[in-house]
Amino acid sequence: MTDVVIIGGGPGGYEAALVAGQLGGNVTLIERRGVGGSAVLTDVVPSKTLIATAEVMTTLRGAHELGLRLDGERHLDEAFSVDLAAVNDRVLKLAAAQSSDIGGRLEAEGVRLIEGTGRLDGTEHVIAGTADGTERLPADIILIATGTTPRELPTAQPDGERILTWTQLYNLRELPERLIVVGSGVTGAEFASAYHALGADVVLVSSRHQVLPGEDDDAARVVQQVFERSGMTILSKSRAQAARVVGDEVVVELADGRTVTGSHCLMAVGSIPNTSGLGLAEAGVRCNDAGYVTVDKVSRTTARGVYAAGDCTGVFALASVAAMQGRIAMWHSLGDAVGPLDLRTVAANVFTAPEIATVGVSQAEVASGLANAHAVMLPLNTNARAKMRGINDGFVKIFCLPTTGIVIGGVVVAPIASELIEGLSLAVREKLTVDQVAQSFTVYPSLTGSIAEAARRLHGRSAAQAVSY
Ligand SMILES: Cc1cc2nc3c(=O)[nH]c(=O)nc-3n(C[C@H](O)[C@H](O)[C@H](O)COP(=O)(O)OP(=O)(O)OC[C@H]3O[C@@H](n4cnc5c(N)ncnc54)[C@H](O)[C@@H]3O)c2cc1C
Repeated sequence: MTDVVIIGGGPGGYEAALVAGQLGGNVTLIERRGVGGSAVLTDVVPSKTLIATAEVMTTLRGAHELGLRLDGERHLDEAFSVDLAAVNDRVLKLAAAQSSDIGGRLEAEGVRLIEGTGRLDGTEHVIAGTADGTERLPADIILIATGTTPRELPTAQPDGERILTWTQLYNLRELPERLIVVGSGVTGAEFASAYHALGADVVLVSSRHQVLPGEDDDAARVVQQVFERSGMTILSKSRAQAARVVGDEVVVELADGRTVTGSHCLMAVGSIPNTSGLGLAEAGVRCNDAGYVTVDKVSRTTARGVYAAGDCTGVFALASVAAMQGRIAMWHSLGDAVGPLDLRTVAANVFTAPEIATVGVSQAEVASGLANAHAVMLPLNTNARAKMRGINDGFVKIFCLPTTGIVIGGVVVAPIASELIEGLSLAVREKLTVDQVAQSFTVYPSLTGSIAEAARRLHGRSAAQAVSY
C-alpha cells in the first residue's frame, strides 16, 4: 500500500485525502486546528453564513420599492434589528457542524486523522507533533496543504476586541457602531458590504481609486456606486498606516496624515503562507520570495514525491482551486488519469451586494492585448425579471473569440451572480460558441435571459462592430 501523508485539513488537504483513499492509498491527514481548515472554520463558511443574513436585510430594505409596507407606511426593514450574538452563534455552530461532517466522512473513508502539527523530515517521512508527543510517519507521497494566515501590520496589531482580523470578527456580540474596514480587496469589500447591510456605519479605507482592484473594472465600479449610494463612506486612494485603540474607540492613521475614528476596525490586508517551520528547504521544496510553495500544473513541488495544494502555493486563493489542486496531486501521484490545472475555466465570485461572478479571460487581459476577444456588456436594467424584482444595478458581459465566436470569458454582476455564472462557465469549459449559448432556451422572464441576449448580440459581429475593452 502507498503511504500518503497530508499536512493541512482545508479543502486542499481533505479533498486530496478522499481521492487518495478512493485510489487505495493508506492515508493520514494531520491538522492542527480542525478539519475543514480555514475555509470551513474562519473563512469561506463563516463569511458566507454571515452574508446570508446580510442578504435578508438587503432584501427587506428593497421591499418598500416593491410595495410592501409595515403598518401601512413604515419601511419593512425598520421592524428588524440584528442580534449579532445570535448571528455569530449560528455562524460558528454551522462552521463547527460542517467541520464535523467532513471529519466523519474522512474517517468513514478510512483516512487516519491526527490532531497536531506536521512537518517534513526529508521527503520520505513526516513528523506529527501532538499533545501526546511526536510520531514519525513513513510517506511515499506527501501533500503540503497548510494554507495561509491573515497578514498583520506591526503598527496595527489586532487585539481581538476592537482591532480585528477576519478570523476574530465572529467573537463580536454587538453590531459595531462604526466599523472601519482597512483593505478594499475581496475580503474587505465582502465584510464592508455585509456589515453595512446589517446596519453598521461602515468606512472602507481603500488604497486604490476604486474598490476591488483586480476585479473587472466595470463590475467594481457598479459595486462602488452601490456602496456609496447606500451611505457607506469610501476613502479612496487612502493608505492606512497604523491603527490603535484609544479608550473605547479605534483611531486609524492614514499615510497623508488624516485620521479616522470608529468603534472597531477590521484589518483585511492580505494573507501570508503557512510555510515556515515545515522543513521545506531541508527537503528540497522550493518556495518563492513571498514564501509560497512553487508547484507545477499537476501540483508537484521541486522535491520528488512531495506535492502542494491550495493557498500555500499562491496559485489562486479559492477553496475550489485548492480542492482541485489537491485532487490533481493524488490522481497524478497514485497513477490515475489526470489533466493539468486549467485556471482559464475557474469560476469565481465576490459576495458583495450585488455579487460579481467571473470566469475565463478578463477585461484587463483583453485590454492589455494578452487575449484577443470581442465583448458585449448588457445592463441588467433592460431585463424584465430584473425590473420585476427591483434589481437596478448589474450587467452581463461576455468575451468571445473574434472568428469562431467561442466564449472565452464572462462577468455577471447581480444579486445572485454566483448562481448565474454557471451557464458561462460551462460555455468556457466546453468551448461553446455565442450562437450555441444564444440558442439554448432560457426561462422567460429570468435573469439568465440576459446571458442568452448578450450572446445573441455577439452573433456575427465584425471586429469593427465589436465593443472593445
Ligand atoms: C474571509 C474569506 C472568505 C473567503 N471566501 C471564499 C469563498 O467564498 N469561496 C472560495 O472559493 N474561497 C474563499 N476564500 C478563500 C479560501 O478560504 C481559501 O482559498 C481556502 O481556504 C484554501 O484552502 P487550503 O486547503 O489551501 O487552506 P486552508 O483552508 O487555510 O487550510 C489549511 C489548514 O492547514 C492547517 N495547518 C497549517 N499548518 C499546519 C501544520 N504544520 N500542521 C498541521 N496543520 C497545519 C491550518 O490549521 C488550516 O486548517 C475566502 C478567504 C477568506 C479569507
